[in-house]
Amino acid sequence: MGDRIRKADGSYGQVQSIEVVNEPQWMFNLTVDQAHTFFVGKEQWLVHNACSWLGGSSSNHSVGNNLVDQAEAYLRSLPRDLRRVTIGVTEINGTRYVSINGGASSDAISRLGQIVGNQPGSRLVVGNGFGSAGHAERALYDLFSSIENLHIGISRAAGPCPECEGFFSGQNFTGLFWPNN
Ligand SMILES: [Zn+2]
Repeated sequence: MGDRIRKADGSYGQVQSIEVVNEPQWMFNLTVDQAHTFFVGKEQWLVHNACSWLGGSSSNHSVGNNLVDQAEAYLRSLPRDLRRVTIGVTEINGTRYVSINGGASSDAISRLGQIVGNQPGSRLVVGNGFGSAGHAERALYDLFSSIENLHIGISRAAGPCPECEGFFSGQNFTGLFWPNN
């Protein structure tokens, strides 16, 4: 409570109360192209469904949002039957590194490899096998853990697997971001 929330006209309101309603409800997944923010309700409150994150102290999510958007776009660029994969994205010194989990099918890996290979300045990183390092986010982290301000976005709407979540929350790490639709 007390949080300030911006409205469409640029003014701010303040959260006066929070009501938790425990009942079944129809829920809809909402994805907003480009920005992950939109206005809701009669008062036009600005809300955000972009991404969750863990680690680090940065509260600036624009970098993370952008990486999540990219990871989701790569996922959507795969044929539907090849989308049961996790894609990770980070950008370092102007190069975009795109990772895919090592357990992905060889079809998915080669298709993503073509897409990434056609983009100058982008490189594919394939997670190594089925172990921890085979997860898309771990593959990038293991390569770039020495980089300051490392941000990684992943396409997995459920967020990192419990193993990765435990791993990342134990690191001095800037941010792992995932969609929060
Ligand atoms: Zn994982």
